Amino acid sequence: MENHTLKIDSIGCGLVIDHISAGNAMKIYRYLHLDDLECAVAIIRNVKSKKHGIKDIIKVENTIDIDLNVLGYLDPNSTINVIKDGVITNKLKLRLPPTIKNVVYCKNPRCITSIEQEIDHIFELTDETTHSYRCIYCEQEAAVEPQ
Ligand SMILES: [Zn+2]
Repeated sequence: MENHTLKIDSIGCGLVIDHISAGNAMKIYRYLHLDDLECAVAIIRNVKSKKHGIKDIIKVENTIDIDLNVLGYLDPNSTINVIKDGVITNKLKLRLPPTIKNVVYCKNPRCITSIEQEIDHIFELTDETTHSYRCIYCEQEAAVEPQ
């Protein structure tokens, strides 16, 4: 009998974003613009993990370029497994990027970025323990938009 159980590592070539904090997968999907992809993308939520309790996983059946700054900002504890011919060929660890550019947008109406449309929205990591980022122009705190 054929086994229809979803296997996490059952893709030939592609990426597996693993160890995503439970509840973060949709946010990552949105901010990495995975909805623009033509290839198969699977979001697996609330997977039981021995080490981390419950986690989310995203599988992409194609080797695409992931913006590591975006992923590191959203979930620095996640990892990327690169898979070729069914074998993990590379594991990438994420970290909080020192700055993020045009990932989140400054909400301060008096900020220069609200007045000058062509200015990049740049946020700087100001507190590693709380993952706080502040606008480099007005110090407004960065906020990921709710779904
Ligand atoms: Zn600002």
